[in-house]
Amino acid sequence: MSSIHEKLAHLSLEQIDQIMARYYIGLDPVKRLVEEFRIDVYPNNLYSLFPPKIHEGQQCPYCKITLISIMPSKSELQTYVPKPFCPDCGHQGGEHCQCISCGQIRMIREEETRVQKMEIIFEAFKPSGQKIESWDFDLEDLVYFLAYVRIGANEDFHFVESLDGLEQQLSPNRNFDEQVIQRLWQKGLIAIHELNTPDVFTFIDGKPERFFTFKTKWRIGSFLTSQEARNFVKEVEDYIREAYSSQDRGDILPRWEKIAIQECLAYLQLQMDDHNLPFSPGEKTEMVLKDALQGYSIGQVFYFIWGAVQNAAAFYQRDGISIHHAANTVPGTIQRRVEKARAGNWNIETYRRDRRSPQSSVSQVFYTTLMKMTGQGIERPILFSPPSDDPKTPRISEKIKE
Ligand SMILES: [Zn+2]
Ligand SMILES: [Zn+2]
Repeated sequence: MSSIHEKLAHLSLEQIDQIMARYYIGLDPVKRLVEEFRIDVYPNNLYSLFPPKIHEGQQCPYCKITLISIMPSKSELQTYVPKPFCPDCGHQGGEHCQCISCGQIRMIREEETRVQKMEIIFEAFKPSGQKIESWDFDLEDLVYFLAYVRIGANEDFHFVESLDGLEQQLSPNRNFDEQVIQRLWQKGLIAIHELNTPDVFTFIDGKPERFFTFKTKWRIGSFLTSQEARNFVKEVEDYIREAYSSQDRGDILPRWEKIAIQECLAYLQLQMDDHNLPFSPGEKTEMVLKDALQGYSIGQVFYFIWGAVQNAAAFYQRDGISIHHAANTVPGTIQRRVEKARAGNWNIETYRRDRRSPQSSVSQVFYTTLMKMTGQGIERPILFSPPSDDPKTPRISEKIKE
């Protein structure tokens, strides 16, 4: 059956049995056994030369040969539980058996489960063919929708790529990306695509419960054909192009402000990261940015942010305060500087976008397609409540009359 180790080859089977018996009884020092039988091994390793235990009656289901197990050392003997395995293929049994055959069986089972899950996904998310009309939606919904479809839809509008699969940024920052996707989904402007693989979902009781926002591929609405999807996108595009002149400005400007705040948060995040300052924006930060955007362009607010972060970093290094304390000074500093600049009617520099955070698709659709602004959309202040009658910041009503 199993071969005898070459270092024991000079011994008879009876001698080997005798050595093993004496080794496990333990009356003789191992060193003496090794010397007596002229075995070329460190005494501590003697047991590793012993022929394996043969588990009669236990067969490898694949190779049909009897399983064996390695003999333990003397000190392991008390707690030793033999682990029989197939000397040919290594099969050990159990859920995690590493043998080739068990691996293949597991793969087949996994594939079956995956196919079953795919069928469930397909059933659950089958397109309904339900008609959607672009004018049933809020302008904001449609801006986000167009922004996503522009960068994500494939050639024939059959699906929209997952956020993780995109090169370009959807919105100014990742938190906002998530809000945008959830919103589009809730409004029915995008629907979960049956192309998604099961790993995009968490399943409860065999049903897909949640999806990973950044990994999900989408259908455009619930349209049955690419042609219908394409027509709808075209309709939305036309609608947005015309919307600025027809919509009440009171409707558009809060949306502008919302996107502008996200742009500022993204810039703030980058600056904080550059100085390893911890950052978790809350309502206070948003309020400060919102206020700063009254009369100042996004690019000018970048200037205030940049200065405030520099200040916090210097404060941290110079004054030996905690890094959290330093980071917490940022919103207050922005606010103070904005107020001073406003009171003094200072000329504030307009910063450019950070190269690492180029203009997002949402910003492009909003600034360029909807508002017809030139440039990057960060150069002009939001025009709904200028703090003064400064001719440099005309009121929106004047702007519209132009
Ligand atoms: Zn086997
Ligand atoms: Zn196996």
